[in-house]
Amino acid sequence: MEGKAEVVLQVEGLKKYFDKKNLRGRVLKRVRAVDGIDFEVLRGESFGLVGESGCGKSTTAMLLSGLYPLTEGKIAFNGMDISSLKDPQARERRKKIQMVFQDPAASIDPRMKIRTTLAEPYRIQKKPVTEEMLDTLLKTVSLDETYKDRYPHELSGGQKQRVGIARALAMDPQVIILDEPTSALDVNVQAQIINLLDRIKREKGLSYVLITHDLSVVRTVCERVAVMYLGKIMEQGPVDRVFANPVHPYTQALFSNIPVLDEEKPERIILQGDVPSPRDIPSGCRFHPRCPRATARCASEEPQIVQVGPEHTVSCLLAQEERHE
Ligand code: SF4
Repeated sequence: MEGKAEVVLQVEGLKKYFDKKNLRGRVLKRVRAVDGIDFEVLRGESFGLVGESGCGKSTTAMLLSGLYPLTEGKIAFNGMDISSLKDPQARERRKKIQMVFQDPAASIDPRMKIRTTLAEPYRIQKKPVTEEMLDTLLKTVSLDETYKDRYPHELSGGQKQRVGIARALAMDPQVIILDEPTSALDVNVQAQIINLLDRIKREKGLSYVLITHDLSVVRTVCERVAVMYLGKIMEQGPVDRVFANPVHPYTQALFSNIPVLDEEKPERIILQGDVPSPRDIPSGCRFHPRCPRATARCASEEPQIVQVGPEHTVSCLLAQEERHE
């Protein structure tokens, strides 16, 4: 039997709070955007992070990419701590973690030719870059060298996203954070970008962290998935197990709304109410005001993470009770 793949990215107790303070530095309001999450990403895998908007998945992407400082917790890359944005060694290692943004138009400077956009990471790192290197980057994303001399407005949305991916590849990364990489694109272009990302991952042995609300994409491309709600992970495990047997009531509700042509599809679960504000997180289980299976205990007791199957964990008091039966 093959051993477990190597862990490339390890996240422990990760928290990101945004505080509004008064002039004396006293915290007036605290937004708990990410509130203590743990997961690991294995070499060569795609790890999906899903949930409704406001669940903290995009803030997690910013923390992993070093675009926000952590409030608490630890991020390790190849076993080395990269949590501090001030540590020069951590900054150097973080170059191997790159990000592809949701909106390709907003992430590329409209005044720059594609040549300049692709050369930018090298310029920042004070590394030499040749025409051949830029041509290779474009070829990797299936664009020819003539694109170097075009401006972003001359490119379609899909072509701009290819340039965004090529720019992320310039630093020879090991991990790419993909923040809703296809949601701004037409459906047929989405499939092309997904196929492109899959090919690049296999060719280069990359790991992806895919941040998305699109569960169909996760089911197609990811090996493992974590479901987030109000800054916490509710359920986590291998994609085939979690999709076949979602245990957390929130995951069950999310998955029941995936459009599939299947007569055995579970009945749709419509959650009542909106996601509460991360400024005002409910007591006990934070999902309890919307949970169709909530009991009185759920309003006062915070669930622990329990294992419900091989590498499959859930944060729910019902799962906790069943485990102790
Ligand atoms: Fe629902 Fe209670 Fe489980 Fe939370 S702990 S998901 S409220 S049943």
